[in-house]
Parts: sequence; C-alpha cells; structure tokens
Amino acid sequence: MKYNFSAGPAHLAPEVIKEAANGILDINGSGLSLLEISHRSKDFMSIMDEAVALTKELLNVPDTHEVLFLTGGASTQFAMIPYNLLPEGGTAVYVNTGAWAKKAIKEAKRFGNINVVASSEDKNFNYFPKGYTIPSDASYFHITSNNTIFGTQVHDFPESPIPVVCDMSSDILSRPIDVSKFDIIYAGAQKNLGPAGTTLVIIKKDAAARSGRDIPTMLNYQTHIDKGSMFNTPPVYAIYVSMLAMRWLKKSGGVESIQKRNEEKAKMLYNEIDSNPLFTGTTAVEDRSLMNVTFLLTKPELADEFLKAATEAGISGIKGHRDVGGFRASIYNAMEVEGIEKLISVMKEFSLKTA
Ligand SMILES: *Cc1c(COP(=O)(O)O)cnc(C)c1O
Repeated sequence: MKYNFSAGPAHLAPEVIKEAANGILDINGSGLSLLEISHRSKDFMSIMDEAVALTKELLNVPDTHEVLFLTGGASTQFAMIPYNLLPEGGTAVYVNTGAWAKKAIKEAKRFGNINVVASSEDKNFNYFPKGYTIPSDASYFHITSNNTIFGTQVHDFPESPIPVVCDMSSDILSRPIDVSKFDIIYAGAQKNLGPAGTTLVIIKKDAAARSGRDIPTMLNYQTHIDKGSMFNTPPVYAIYVSMLAMRWLKKSGGVESIQKRNEEKAKMLYNEIDSNPLFTGTTAVEDRSLMNVTFLLTKPELADEFLKAATEAGISGIKGHRDVGGFRASIYNAMEVEGIEKLISVMKEFSLKTA
C-alpha cells in the first residue's frame, strides 16, 4: 500500500475507491455499468440528487443558495465569475495570494477593471495578506481560501461590504463555513472532494447573470440553476465518486469532526518540521495551511536522498511544486493519521541517519 500525499488529483478513502469500482461494473444491481446508462435514468438522477443533498447537509447550505456540479474545472470559473457578476465597465476586487489567484485575476481582467487590493507576491506568497480595506463600490471581492501551491490558508475571512466569491478548490469540506457570507463558492473536485472532472459551485440564486451581459448559454449560471446541472450531459462518473466521498465524510462524522482530525494531522506534521533541525517550514506560522504542508530541508543537498528514502517507505507525491521547491505533503480529508505517522517516522529516521 502507498501513502498518497499528491496535491491533486488526490487521495480518496479506500472504501470510496472500492465502491466507485463496483459502480463501473454494476450500478445498484441493475446489471449495467454507470458508464453506459443515461444521465436521465433513475439510477443517475438519484446519484445527482444525493450529491446535491449531501453538499447542502454537510455545509449547511441555506435556501438562498443553489448547489451545482459543472465541468471545465475551477479554471472555467475564473471566467464565469466576472461574466456573470461584473457589469460592463465595472470593477472587481481580488487578493493575489499565489498562482491560482493570479490566474483568476488574469481571466477577470478580460471583463473589466480589476483592483488587486492586497498581494503577498513580495515574499513569494509565503503569507496571507491581512489588514486591507475592501472598497464598497465594486461588484464583488474574490479570495482564494487555500493556496495549494504555497501552503497558506485563510483562517479568518475578512469582513466584506460587497459580495464575496471564494475559490475553495483545495479546502472545501475540510472545515465548517458560513455559506450565507458568500455569493459564490467554487471548487474543482479533484483536491478535497472527489476525482477530476466536475466542479462544485455553490451560488446565491440572485448572483447568476447579475452582470446584465449577453452570456453564452453554457457560461451562464442561470442555465445550470434552471436545469439542475443537467442542461447538457453532466460528468456522471466524477459526480458519482464525489457523492460517494461525501457519503464517506458524513459517515466519518461530518465536517466538524473532519476539521478536528485535519487539525490534529497538521499539528503532528508541523510539530515535526519545527522540532527536527533537518526541516523547516516555508510559510508564516499563523497562515499555515491544514491541507498542503510545505517544507524544505535545512541541508538542501540531501533533498534527493530524502525523497528516495520516503519513496522506499511507500510515500508518494511529496515533491514540492517548482515555484516553492522542497517538499509538499497534501493531507486532505481522506489522508489517514497513519499516513502522517509514516511520514514523520521517515523524517525522524532520515534525520538520525544523516546527522
Ligand atoms: C487546482 C486548483 C485550481 C484549478 O483547478 P482545475 O479544476 O484544474 O481548473 C484552482 N484553484 C485552486 C486553489 C486549486 O488548488
């Protein structure tokens, strides 16, 4: 067995993978594979309904909001958001906290004026900007809750006088959130929710097409709200596996209970990084991500050897992103405490061996 620390597509609970495999062979004892049935069939419709219902239940989504499962990844949301929310000639406010925020900003600039109100680029995004003021005369404020590449996370969302849009691709369902404070929450499934292929969007109903623009059908949220994410053929398999992962999450005690486990896991790993002289964290302590733990070796010349030792111990996916270097352990909801213990034991042994 491997311990999978990949940043995404990422580890899923073994029982979810097993159930997903069963669905390919025979869905609900129908004698048909999920891959060959109509998305309008009873078997798939009940999967879609359950996926929406579980999202609402796990995140306490109020009736003012709609839950959608779309395609095109979080990256398509970068354009759909301004298309729907930013009127011609309007201004939107963004915080630049890393590579994904930058891409969101770049797309939004095609639609209007973008005010980057705060940035942590001066220190290679190793902290989360705080203490800025969000202007009240803009159309919306966009923030990335967890910076997958740089390992920082928002622990207190700023108060905003304007509608808030949040990219939660890498920490959705990892902790309770007050959905009513957001006009749009979006997340590519493949980090903390399920497999690649679908994007979860939680949208306040009156936010769709608010810009007054002539929006192409597929990029208009109203289309997907009106058709229950079934305007065109949805990514049936990605939605099915995401639904199974949410069933698993519910069975594991829900979002509050997974948050406790996530906090414990992150604490164990950061403790090792802070106490072992061979390792050092890359981000400001108060902004550390509970999902993506980034660290360096204090003797960088040993990095290849450490990677080899980790690989031999069954650890996969910890090589850091090229923008940060070093290592990154992605410890999303599905990562077992046992995986963290394994990584820590490899770190301890390697440090003793090379001291
Ligand atoms: C991975 C990621 C994205 C991009 O997601 P795609 O589904 O590949 O488009 C966007 N934002 C964040 C925070 C991510 O981690």
